[in-house]
Amino acid sequence: MTRFIFITGGVVSSLGKGLASAALGALLQARGFKVRLRKLDPYINVDPGTMSPYQHGEVYVTDDGAETDLDLGHYERFTGVPARSSDNATTGRIYSDVIARERHGDYLGATIQVIPHITDAIKAFVQGGLNGDEDFVLCEIGGTVGDIEGLPFLEAIRQIGNDLGRDRVMFMHLTLVPYVSAAGELKTKPTQHSVKELLNVGIQPDVLICRCDRPIPAGERRKIALFCNVREQAVIPALDVSSIYAVPITYHREGLDEEVCRYFRIDAPPPDLGTWEDIVDRLTRPEGEVTIAVVGKYTGLLDAYKSLTEALVHGGIANRVKVNIDWIDAAVFENGGTIDRLDGVHGILVPGGFGERGAKGKVQAARFARERRVPYFGICFGMQMAVVEAARNLAGIPDADSTEFGACAAPVIGLMTEWMRGNTVEYRNAEGDLGGSMRLGSYDCVVRKGTRVHDIYGADRIKERHRHRYEVNNNYLGVLESKGLRFAGMSPDGLLPEIVEIPDHPWFIGVQFHPELKSKPFDPHPLFTSFIHAAITQSRLV
Ligand code: GLN
Repeated sequence: MTRFIFITGGVVSSLGKGLASAALGALLQARGFKVRLRKLDPYINVDPGTMSPYQHGEVYVTDDGAETDLDLGHYERFTGVPARSSDNATTGRIYSDVIARERHGDYLGATIQVIPHITDAIKAFVQGGLNGDEDFVLCEIGGTVGDIEGLPFLEAIRQIGNDLGRDRVMFMHLTLVPYVSAAGELKTKPTQHSVKELLNVGIQPDVLICRCDRPIPAGERRKIALFCNVREQAVIPALDVSSIYAVPITYHREGLDEEVCRYFRIDAPPPDLGTWEDIVDRLTRPEGEVTIAVVGKYTGLLDAYKSLTEALVHGGIANRVKVNIDWIDAAVFENGGTIDRLDGVHGILVPGGFGERGAKGKVQAARFARERRVPYFGICFGMQMAVVEAARNLAGIPDADSTEFGACAAPVIGLMTEWMRGNTVEYRNAEGDLGGSMRLGSYDCVVRKGTRVHDIYGADRIKERHRHRYEVNNNYLGVLESKGLRFAGMSPDGLLPEIVEIPDHPWFIGVQFHPELKSKPFDPHPLFTSFIHAAITQSRLV
């Protein structure tokens, strides 16, 4: 029997609902349950694929090629359950599906309304696309209770509570208990108001998770319970922790999973938290540290690099070192900043990106890493810029560039349609529609034996996730290989370069895909583990 736990948030945004959901998922897993995590987002974009990373943070890509909310990344990192396109829906997606059906005549002349048509579509989404063996579906509702946009979602989950009965549905609400220094007190009123908002739409929360920057005294906990009509044990304090990977352990200590089992009347063994304890131990007692320069474009909003940051942390966990990240806006190298800024770092990573701004700086960073023999990890755009750099400065092709920035004489990076004769593949779903116009999702890659990446992966064939329009132009493969670049991974048809490395370098690897999306704290991605290992070696040299 599948049970549903709905997680809403109140008082303010950014309380970490995504993390709370992910951590609860991990806890229930540790008790032996099968979980699936989902998210409903109230915004009108059909998916976050077209949103600026500055607005919305990273776009998380699933194996099946959906561009989703970054919280799905947290879900995967905490539970290891690969997210699917059916795990994230937005208001835009729901409405566009309903409108398409209406145009198709599927509603047989009915007047289409928010209730029941939109709410029915939401309910179908929440309950559809499951394997059938899930013990729990955890469904997070984006936004904050009280927002106009969120109302249809709240109405839909309220109805699910009635449809399935309360013994299969639980409502969990995340709130903030602020400390007001002038009064020297923790304040419970915002939580009370937020619960009232929920009650207005017919939802009585069963559990309250209270974010707070200090311990919540028993008296305050009792007060919240009394005024919000929940059991005292169901008021779970959630204090700030040093690492997000400590959250499952702290929630368990505060009794969250116990409360869930009690609510659903399930007798389950206590969770085995050994894995999480080991992770936290490695994070809190590192045996060294390294500094990695990330030369990117969206360094003003680090949520844009969520999975990347975490994958670097995972590489640190694997090697038992602390990873310091030196965020560098690639544009500084174009605006008078000198490349010496990179002196002394133990590794350089150029992440994914779009557009010309900062590209020159990334090319410079790749050159610095290659010439100064500093470990270099190029991801997607970071691989493309490393190939441009090698083409210009190793292979002597001064005009080498990417057609992403306009037509050029030597398009070493370009659209497949530009350089592959007779090729008809184009990742564009409809005329002028930018959504999903890229190579998206999981693709196979054949790894060449005898290469560094073959050693790292220990496999001949791998699967990694993609999100890009441009590719390395394979017409240049021969000349680049003859000058010291090795194409160590190719698409199975041999047409698309997927991995490039420089054999005569301590560690120089570029990948066309996004390995960071699949890294987990309990299963660090081999490329990140190896990169951090190379950085440790480098740290002993500088
Ligand atoms: N802008 C590049 C492309 O579209 C790289 C994309 C990325 O780094 N994700 O191919």
